[in-house]
Amino acid sequence: MFLRLVLRNRRECVPESDETMTPVVGKIQEVREAVREARRRGERVGLVPTMGALHAGHVSLIRAARAENAYVVVSIFVNPTQFGAGEDYESYPRPLEKDVAICRQEGVALAFVPTTEEMYPAGFATTVHVAGLTEKMCGVSRPGHFDGVCTVVAKLLGIVQPDAAYFGEKDAQQLAVVRRMTRDLNLAVEIRACPLVRDADGLATSSRNQYLSTRERASALVLGRALAQARQRIEAGERDAASVADGVRRLVGEEPGVALEYVAVVDSDTLADLERIEDRALVALAARVGRTRLIDNVLLRNPRGGSTTPATG
Ligand code: AMP
Repeated sequence: MFLRLVLRNRRECVPESDETMTPVVGKIQEVREAVREARRRGERVGLVPTMGALHAGHVSLIRAARAENAYVVVSIFVNPTQFGAGEDYESYPRPLEKDVAICRQEGVALAFVPTTEEMYPAGFATTVHVAGLTEKMCGVSRPGHFDGVCTVVAKLLGIVQPDAAYFGEKDAQQLAVVRRMTRDLNLAVEIRACPLVRDADGLATSSRNQYLSTRERASALVLGRALAQARQRIEAGERDAASVADGVRRLVGEEPGVALEYVAVVDSDTLADLERIEDRALVALAARVGRTRLIDNVLLRNPRGGSTTPATG
């Protein structure tokens, strides 16, 4: 009941302090004050930016942040500027009560849930654009998407001013772009990457998985399988990037109801296309399963040494 009240009035509300409570605040000023208090106590501050509909992938980020920071802020904001026309901004899931319950279970110090007006007040006129890295892969079918991401991440970093911010390798291009942005703008924050989390059946966890019907979900498993096969081939010595990409295309192409948008074999840091796979190889893809767009990838940190992020299980 109290939570419902808090959520309804979240712009004004700072719930009473209680060790088991994660205050939910909507105002930038409230975040600044809370973080200032934490700093006064000598606490290190971590930030986990999310769009909510929290799942195991987000929880892994929160746990990584908790392991390194006494004070963890989770932001929950479905950022309109990173959605294109005709995308799922309106229908994106917003289970705020459940999200706040997860934050509380995970010992999050503060949940920042701003309104669109709080983040983009009248007169807002700035966009952060990272050139090059954003123009390929997901940038092709989602023009402007990474401008929205960079702008909101830059704002969140400016609002919270964390020591470290946590991002998932699930969004490998986003991670590379955010790293480039923080380097280029000399932002005083450590960007931490957390491994991609999968459900038991091998599907990468995503807020958008709930759009899938049972049948679509079964079809979508081909993505993890194709990437697992790519990993195995590389680990077995395949060095030809085109051949690896072809293998993914062939396997995904055999699954009715799954339309591959792209598969890329790139350097995970620069996102430069690879011809030969030597080091830091990222095999990334996007596909449509019915009306749902999914992304997935496998990261091979050192194919020669065989240290990888597993693509299944
Ligand atoms: P989102 O709420 O989709 O914007 O994601 C917020 C953060 O959670 C991003 O840094 C994502 O990369 C990360 N994330 C989402 N899904 C996963 C996953 N399956 N494994 C690891 N990190 C994830």
